[in-house]
Amino acid sequence: MRWEDLTGDQFPEAVKQAESVCLLPFSCIERHGHHLPLGTDMFIGRELCRRVAELEPAVIFPDYFFTQILEARHTPGTFGIQPELIISLLENVCREIARNGLTKIVIINAHGGNDHLINYFAQIQLASRRDYVVYIPQPAYVTEESATAAQWETVVDGHAGERETSMLLAIRPALVKLESLPSDGEGMPLGRLKQLGDQGTYVGIWWYADHPTHYCGDGRPATAEKGEAWFVDRSRALARALRTIKDDKDSRRLQDEFFSKVG
Ligand SMILES: [Zn+2]
Repeated sequence: MRWEDLTGDQFPEAVKQAESVCLLPFSCIERHGHHLPLGTDMFIGRELCRRVAELEPAVIFPDYFFTQILEARHTPGTFGIQPELIISLLENVCREIARNGLTKIVIINAHGGNDHLINYFAQIQLASRRDYVVYIPQPAYVTEESATAAQWETVVDGHAGERETSMLLAIRPALVKLESLPSDGEGMPLGRLKQLGDQGTYVGIWWYADHPTHYCGDGRPATAEKGEAWFVDRSRALARALRTIKDDKDSRRLQDEFFSKVG
């Protein structure tokens, strides 16, 4: 059930059917090599949520791309939001979702650059009392019935590579420019800060150091079949996580208990 497709009259019933769960498709607008569209993550997040909600009914929030992508702002078409605004906007969005009765807010992240942000955002839910819970399902990528695990041909694959190219071939093939895929190893890490990474030291500029053209991997072995298998696998794993979230009463109870002690 997409939020924007519902009428106001239908909305309360949708909240009931969804057992108060709202899926927040979390993405960004950024360069994806030479061959994939700027909205690649947005399309992936949207499709993932659609498939998950087919397995476990939920209300799907409209595409949400006001997230962390500062590291791609040197490339045309990238849309970056200042850090303070990312957090306050997201807080506001969650409050509005909850005010509409959807008190279990589930972030479905389709952009690797948000990995730190989503965990930090979950942690700062403890800053003040609230009548909702934010969940971040991150089930293991390889599952028992995984059809995708064995099929990937490339070892380096992080951005616009074999996986993301396969996903887009499965869902938006007309937007994939296979003829623009480089064959000169452009997607391999440059290793310009390798000495720090090798010692486990993190710096924000690491991604730019390795992948200044926003391409990590090799999209050439990508196929629509691989992308379809990935979506099937991933949406099943997320639907299982969602069932557990629907059954969960403890997070809210413990959150309330915590705030009663904080005062
Ligand atoms: Zn992406």
